[in-house]
Amino acid sequence: MPPRHDVSPWRGGWLRWARHCPSPNCNTRPAHACVDLIVVHSISLPPGEYGGGAVQDLFLNRLGWDAHPYYQQIRGLQVSSHFFIERSGRAWQFVSVHERAWHAGVSHYRGRDGCNDDSVGIELEGLEDDHFEAAQYATLLRLCDALARRLPIRHIAGHEHIAPHRKHDPGSAFDWHRLARHFAGTGIMIAPTIQHHT
Ligand SMILES: [Zn+2]
Repeated sequence: MPPRHDVSPWRGGWLRWARHCPSPNCNTRPAHACVDLIVVHSISLPPGEYGGGAVQDLFLNRLGWDAHPYYQQIRGLQVSSHFFIERSGRAWQFVSVHERAWHAGVSHYRGRDGCNDDSVGIELEGLEDDHFEAAQYATLLRLCDALARRLPIRHIAGHEHIAPHRKHDPGSAFDWHRLARHFAGTGIMIAPTIQHHT
C-alpha cells in the first residue's frame, strides 16, 4: 500500500496535537446543533498562579478543595472546557468538540440561549485583565483555524460577551484585534465590542 498522507489534525472530535485528558463533565449536544461559536475564556487556579496543573485537575474532578483557601468558593464545581492553553502555548483537550462541554453557564449570543449547546470553549491560562503570552495567541489562532475547518464556525466571542455583567473573562487585556486581523475576509465575526472598528 502507498503511504497514507493524512493531513487532518483531527481524529473524530479530538485534535491530534493537543494533549488529551477526557473529562467526565460533558454530555450530548442537542440534535442538529449548529456549532458556529468559539467562546474564549481565561482561568488560573489559584487565581494568578500559573502552571501548577490545578485547572486540569478542576476539569477532571480531582482538584483537592482543601489545598487552597480560594477553592472554598468553587468547591464541588463541575465544569469543563473543550480546550485549555497554558502560558507556554501548550494545548490540552478535555472534551470532544462533538460533545457538549460545561464552560458557558447561563448565556446568550447571536440570538440563542445556552451557548454550551452549540459552542466550543477555549480557556486561556490567565487572569482577567492580565496580558496573555505570544505563545498562547499563536496556539489559539492555530486552534481556531483547525476548528473552522472542522465545524461551521461563524463567531468568536468572549465569556464576557455571552454572559455580560456576570462574567468578565478573558478581560480587557485580551487582544481581540489580533483575531480580527487573522480572520479578516473569512466571514468569521469577532467579539461584538470591536465590530464597529473593523
Ligand atoms: Zn469563562
